[in-house]
Amino acid sequence: MLLDISRLRRGAEEVNRQIDPEVFAVQTSDRHDEYTVKGVTTVKGTVRRDQGTTVVLDATVTSTLEMPCSRCLEPFTVPVNAHVETRFVPAGDLAKVTAETVKSGEIEDDVEDQILGLAEYRDESIDLGHVVLEQFVLALPMKPLCQDECRGLCSVCGANRNRETCECKQEWIDPRLAALADLKKQ
Ligand SMILES: [Zn+2]
Ligand SMILES: [Zn+2]
Repeated sequence: MLLDISRLRRGAEEVNRQIDPEVFAVQTSDRHDEYTVKGVTTVKGTVRRDQGTTVVLDATVTSTLEMPCSRCLEPFTVPVNAHVETRFVPAGDLAKVTAETVKSGEIEDDVEDQILGLAEYRDESIDLGHVVLEQFVLALPMKPLCQDECRGLCSVCGANRNRETCECKQEWIDPRLAALADLKKQ
């Protein structure tokens, strides 16, 4: 998923890449359980040289992800349609560039990369896979739900309560009280 920029001269060049879902094995992000890439991922836009050695990727990333619902565990789809405008500088230059910018402006160290939209390239190629994976993580919902009203699984019998109605009692009974109730019955 490398984008060769060695022959990139003045002006913008079109980028139109299709990436098969198999390229992305099951991915795990810090925030979530696993998600899988279901459809073809497209990166479409332009790439151009900016001042000096900076290269700008201006593109739209589209894809379809699937992840389990946090309540009922059924997989559901998450569409990705994100615009990225990322400035790439040669590996090693990133620290230098951000240091200069931080000095001239008042940007906090830990958020500087995000604010500046900066990334690195090495060997005259941009890693599109990295760009795409970043967008996948941003697209994942904070609270993964198949639907807002998902009723989850029955904690007693495990039935999917979106699909079936079980007769289980949902309330929790104090085991000591339950023992007392049993005594009374006898
Ligand atoms: Zn659900
Ligand atoms: Zn049940």
